[in-house]
Parts: sequence; C-alpha cells; structure tokens
Amino acid sequence: MYLARFLIFLILILSLGGTFLLIRRSVRQRTGNEYALSMPGEKKIREMLEPTKRVYIAPPVSARLIRPNEFSRSGESLPEVKNIFIHYTANPGTGADQNRDYFDGLAESQITSASAHFVIGLEGEIVQCLPLDEIGYAVKGRNYDSISIECCYLDESGQFPDATYQSLIELCAYLLGRYELNEFDLMRHYDEGGKLCPKYYVEHPEAWDKLIYDVGQYIHDHGTKEKPEYASDGGIIASDPVSIDTDKGAAEDEENEQ
Ligand SMILES: [Zn+2]
Repeated sequence: MYLARFLIFLILILSLGGTFLLIRRSVRQRTGNEYALSMPGEKKIREMLEPTKRVYIAPPVSARLIRPNEFSRSGESLPEVKNIFIHYTANPGTGADQNRDYFDGLAESQITSASAHFVIGLEGEIVQCLPLDEIGYAVKGRNYDSISIECCYLDESGQFPDATYQSLIELCAYLLGRYELNEFDLMRHYDEGGKLCPKYYVEHPEAWDKLIYDVGQYIHDHGTKEKPEYASDGGIIASDPVSIDTDKGAAEDEENEQ
C-alpha cells in the first residue's frame, strides 16, 4: 500500500518535471527566445531528475598569459564566476596564438579594450590568456562575474570547426564543474547585450541548444559524483603573482623600441 502510494508520488514528480522541460522546449522553439533558459526552478528540476556530476579532468591547455596592461589585462581580481560566456573571434581563419597575440598587442596598439580567458584554435588547441582569478574585457557589465572563451572559425558562417567545438565542450564541462555550475549557466555573448557573437550560434538558436545539450551529455558521460583518484586541471593557471608587477612589461617595451 505504502509502496503503491510512493510509486504514484514518484511518477507524479517525474511527470511534472518532464512536462516542465517539454513546455520549456516548446516555448523556446516557438519564440526562438532564450528567456526560457534562465527560468527559475530549472536547476532544481534538473538536479531532481539527474544527480550532480562534475568533470574533474580538463583538456590540455597551453598557458600563454598576456602581459599586464590597461587595455587587455588590468590585473583586477575576479571575485566570483556565475556564467561562462562563449564568443567567436570575428576574424575568420585566424588561430588561437594569433588571437592571443592580438590581445597582448593591445598593450602597444591601444586600439580598444578586449581580452578573454581562453582562445580555442582551429585544431582544437586551447590557449589561456588570463589567469582564472583576473577579469577580462569580454562582456560589458559582466566582466566581474564571468569567464570568457573565444573560439576560432574558418568561414563567414561563424560555425566552429569540429576540433574547436570538441575542445570547447570539454573545457566548458571542466570549468562548469570547477565553479559548481551546470550547462545552463553557459551563455552566448549575445545573451548579455545583444551583440552578434558568437555569430553562427545567434543565427542558429538550435545549434546553441545542441551545444548546451552536448556539454550536458559530456558531463553525464565523463563526470563523477566524487573526485576520482586521477584528476587534472590541464595546466590551467588559477592565479599569477606576476600580474601586479606592471613595470616588467613596460621595461621590455622600451627595449623593443630601441
Ligand atoms: Zn563576444
């Protein structure tokens, strides 16, 4: 008798959760709007349907931190991370090192303020530009509570190549776990201010939904509830004591000019 009551209760809870997800999906399909992504209760229902898992192994990352300077690396601390923002470089055919060097070169060119924590190249290589505990200049109004990832691409469509996409999935899965977030905490630059970035995933909302799904699937397949015996941060630099020493960068500049 009790078992029957419990089963009915369980079925009711599961079907409520399922109905909610279906409604959310159809709302998003109909309106093409992403407000449904941040509906309150989303996380709770997801946690109820699926226990929280974390990915403890990061993909390999090459740290090539940009020099401290006011245009791309102010050295200000990043107090918290609520979202991870995805970008495209807006420069087709360029690679991770090139884009990292562009951010670094802003120290001299001073054209604009711009940077991101990571750039993922055309072969899927990941270059880290900023330590995790410093802000970047990537998303106006959100630089103090988010991490940004730039992705390279080949043609005007802005679609990420397979290798780039795969590394993005793996890096996002790892970082989300590190900050105790889930795949619904991923955002496009577009979602904060309406900039056409990352182009393909703004113009194709279903591709963005797929990306979120793929990250969730990766966490489901590769994540664990407990920290495994083998864990790896992939070489990611969490903090860099050099950032406060801006004199060194200035001295090198002078040498180069002579
Ligand atoms: Zn962007």
